[in-house]
Amino acid sequence: MRKIFDFHGGIHPPENKHQSVRTPIADAGIPPELVIPLSQHIGAPAVPSVAVGERVLKGQVIAQPRGFVSVPKHAPSSGTVSAIEDRLIPHPSGHSAPCIVIATDGQDEWIAHSGTPDYRQLDKAALLEKIRCAGIAGMGGAGFPSAVKLSIQPHHTIQTLIINGTECEPYITADDILMRERAQQIIAGAQILAHLIEPGETLIGVEDNKPEGIAALRAAASGTDIEVVEFPTKYPSGGEKQLIEILTGKQVPSGGLPADVGVVCQNLGSTVAIHDAIVEGRPLISRVTTVTGNSVREPQNFQVLIGTPMRYLLDRAGYEPARGNRLIMGGPMMGFTVPDDRVPVVKTTNCLLAPTEEELPTPPPAQACIRCGMCAEACPVSLLPQQLFWFAQGKEHEKLEQHNLFDCIECGACSYVCPSNIPLVQYYRASKAEIQQQRRDHEKAEHSRQRFEARQERLERAEREKEEKRAARKRAAEEKARQAGGDGEEDPIQAAIERARAKKAVQQAGGGESELEKLEKAVVSARKRLETASAKLAEAQAQGSDLVDALQTGVDKTRGKLEAAEKALQDYQASDSAAAQDAAQPGDAAQAAIEKAMAARAAEASLSPQEKARKDLKKLEQRLQKSRDKLAASRESGEEEKIIEALEATVTRLQDKVEEARIAVQDAEEA
Ligand code: SF4
Ligand code: SF4
Repeated sequence: MRKIFDFHGGIHPPENKHQSVRTPIADAGIPPELVIPLSQHIGAPAVPSVAVGERVLKGQVIAQPRGFVSVPKHAPSSGTVSAIEDRLIPHPSGHSAPCIVIATDGQDEWIAHSGTPDYRQLDKAALLEKIRCAGIAGMGGAGFPSAVKLSIQPHHTIQTLIINGTECEPYITADDILMRERAQQIIAGAQILAHLIEPGETLIGVEDNKPEGIAALRAAASGTDIEVVEFPTKYPSGGEKQLIEILTGKQVPSGGLPADVGVVCQNLGSTVAIHDAIVEGRPLISRVTTVTGNSVREPQNFQVLIGTPMRYLLDRAGYEPARGNRLIMGGPMMGFTVPDDRVPVVKTTNCLLAPTEEELPTPPPAQACIRCGMCAEACPVSLLPQQLFWFAQGKEHEKLEQHNLFDCIECGACSYVCPSNIPLVQYYRASKAEIQQQRRDHEKAEHSRQRFEARQERLERAEREKEEKRAARKRAAEEKARQAGGDGEEDPIQAAIERARAKKAVQQAGGGESELEKLEKAVVSARKRLETASAKLAEAQAQGSDLVDALQTGVDKTRGKLEAAEKALQDYQASDSAAAQDAAQPGDAAQAAIEKAMAARAAEASLSPQEKARKDLKKLEQRLQKSRDKLAASRESGEEEKIIEALEATVTRLQDKVEEARIAVQDAEEA
C-alpha cells in the first residue's frame, strides 16, 4: 500500500460535481462559425498559414508555431476561412487578440491523417515532434506546450511520472467523465508518456470523490505497471506541487520545477490528446468541457470543437441567461468571469459555469483585515496571504517578490476563508501582472540601451577609422612633398602647368598683364623716358647749361634701357612665338598652354630612362645657351652690374646642371 502524504492548508468547499456526470459525454456539434485564437498557450502565438477565402479541411494546420515554446493550430472542422482578425478571447481583462475565423460547411471533412498504433517504433524525438505538431498544450491551467514540458533536460533524472486525475475544483467533471468513459485511452496515453520519459514509476493520482473513474482506470490499468493512487479529497490537491507532495512526499523548491525533484506531471486531458495524436494521428481540435451551474437546464459534459462560441455551447445545455448572474470559465475557485458569451472555447476551457445569484452570490463588499490568520492557515503553499495583501495594496513589488508571490498558485483558498471577504487572490493576480509588465518594460529598456550603446560604439569606431585614414593621407602627402623638396629639382612641366593656370586665372579675373604686354609696355615707357631726357638735354645745350654732361649720361643710360627692353621683347617673341600668338588670343592662351604641358608630360612618361636623360640634357643645354646669349647681350648693352652678376650666376648654375645631366646620360646608357 503506497504511503499518502498531506500538504499544508487546503479547504473543503462544496463539490457540486454530481450535477454534470449524470449523462455521458455529448457531442456539441458544429457551430456555424469557429473562432480560433492564435495564442491559446504559454509562449509565442502561432502564425496564420491560410488566407481569407481559403477552404480548409478538418485537422488541417491553419497556423504554424513560432519558436520552440509554441504550437500549431488546426481547423476543428471543414469550411472556409472568413476572417483573420482580432476577436474577443477568453481572458479576465476581456481583451481581443488575433483569431482565425472559419465559416463551417457542416461536412466535417477530415484531411488525410494516420496514426502509429505501435508507438514503440518511434524514437523519442519523433514522438515529441508528433506531440508538438498535434498542437497539444496543457488542457488545464496555463496551457504549457506539452512537447516542451516532456523534453527532459540531461541533468534531470525522472523517478516518477504522474498523470493528474485530481480535478479538485468544485463543479468541474471533465476529467472524471474522461476516466469513466475513456480509461483505455488514458492508460494507453500514460504508456506512451512512460515510453518517452522512462520513469521509475507511473502514477495516476485521483481524489476519492471519483469512485467510478478510479474503478474504470484500475480496470484499464490491469496488467500494466501503472498505479492508480486514490487519496482524500481536499482542495487544491490538483495543484501540481500539491499533488507531487501527496504522492511522493517531495516538495518542489520555491521557483523550481517538478523535474528538480525527479517528477514529471501531465494533465489527464492532455494524456488522452497525446494518445489520439500518436495512435490515431488526430491533432488537438476538440476537448471535453463541463457546462454546469443552475442557469443551465441540463448540466453535462460536451465534446466540443475548439473555437466554438461559448454561447453556442451553453445553448446546447439549455442556458437561461436571465437566471444567471455571470459566466465563469473554469471553476468558482480559480476560474474568471467571462465578460462576453461570444468568446470561443479554447484548449484550456475545462468548464463553463453559469451560476444563479442564489448559487454563487456576488461577494459582499470587503471589510478591513482583522488579522485572524485564517488565510495563512488555508494557504497550501505556506505563504503569508495577509502580508502579501498589504504589500499588494502598497504596490511594494520588491517585498512581494521577497515573500514569494510567484509561488502563489492562485487557488483562492485564502479568499474563500477570509471573514472580511477580501478578494485576496485578485490582488495577487493584479500584482503579478504589474511585476511581469515591469520586467518586460525593463527588458525592453535594457535591449534599447544595448542597441543604443552598440550603435554609438559603431559610429565612434567608424569616426576613428576615418580619422586614421585622413592622418595617413596627410602623412603620405607630407612625405611626398618632403621628397620633392629634398631633390632640389623643380618639375619643369608641373611648373609650366602651374604658371599657365595662374596666367589663365589672372586673365579670367580680368586683371594683370601678359608677359608680352609687360615687355611692350616697358619698351613704350623707355621710349618716352628717352624722348623726355633727349628734350631736356637739347634745352640745356641750347641754354649752355652746366648740366649738359649729366643729362647726356642720363640720355645714354635711358637709351641703353630702351635697347634692352626692345631686345627682351624680341627675344620673347622669337623664343615663344606660339605663346605670343596665344597672348594675342587671351581667352584660349592659358588653356592651350596647359594642354601643351600635359601633352609634354604624357610624352615624357612614355620615354625610356635613356631617352629621358638625353632629353633633359638637351633642354638644359638650350637653357644654358639662352642664358649665355642674354649675358653677352647685357654686357654689350652696358646693363647694370647687378643684372650682369645675376645672369652670370644663372649661367654658372646651368653649366653645373648640364655637367650633371651629361653624367646622368652616361649612367643611363651604361645601365
Ligand atoms: S483571512 Fe482575511 S481578515 Fe483574516 S488575516 Fe487574512 S486577510 Fe486578514
Ligand atoms: S491564492 Fe495564493 S496565497 Fe491564497 S491560498 Fe492560494 S496559494 Fe496561498
